[in-house]
Amino acid sequence: MSPPRIATAVLETLWDLFFPRHCAGCGAALDSGWLCRSCRMAVPPIRDPRCGTCSRPYFGALEKFECENCHGRAFYFQCAVAVLPSRGYVRALVHRLKYGGELWLADPLGEMIRLGLDDDRLAGRNFHGIVPVPLHPLRQRERGFNQAEILARELTRGKETPFFDALRRTRYTVTQTHFDRHQRMQNLRDAFSLRQNVDVQGKHLLLVDDVLTTGSTLDECARVLTQSGAESVCALTVARG
Ligand SMILES: [Zn+2]
Ligand SMILES: [Zn+2]
Repeated sequence: MSPPRIATAVLETLWDLFFPRHCAGCGAALDSGWLCRSCRMAVPPIRDPRCGTCSRPYFGALEKFECENCHGRAFYFQCAVAVLPSRGYVRALVHRLKYGGELWLADPLGEMIRLGLDDDRLAGRNFHGIVPVPLHPLRQRERGFNQAEILARELTRGKETPFFDALRRTRYTVTQTHFDRHQRMQNLRDAFSLRQNVDVQGKHLLLVDDVLTTGSTLDECARVLTQSGAESVCALTVARG
């Protein structure tokens, strides 16, 4: 080990001694990782059977299915992979990052969203760029950061695929929490556009957000990218609402 490496290892050991790790979900002491076993067991990643388009979990006997959210709907994205259901610690961590400004949660949430790259709908694909769903500049100033950008940057760790800030939010939209699908689509109309001097022609893109609820936001972003010439758009979120 080189001297700087030894110094780092010593520092890390001291750090762990004085600041033992705690589970990001429940605060229990941990030897390693970000989450304790009981939190992980309580909210495991979404597996089949789930909707092949939007990752909505399904508690039935079917292997693959199209959920009622997607039935009869054509999306501009090819698929939307969501790693975990938005409940328990998952919901809490996203909330604490987004509204509590706990930026250190980028690490555990980054680890979670990276699991999505191994999903069989995304594995083996080569993306030209990782595009975050943008916030309106006013909201970004208010919050101080864009959680989708933080997650998109986490996805570039150890990968060659670059972060690609291709979109901007041109309309300040009201919060969609209590809107149905139709109202969400109305609310989002012309909300996004391509940034100036950005070229997406022929590109395969991975669009990133924190939570997928009805897919309307991701779809609207994917529409702008596709109609600007992108060859394909896939989407990835940490959570499925
Ligand atoms: Zn825990
Ligand atoms: Zn679906």
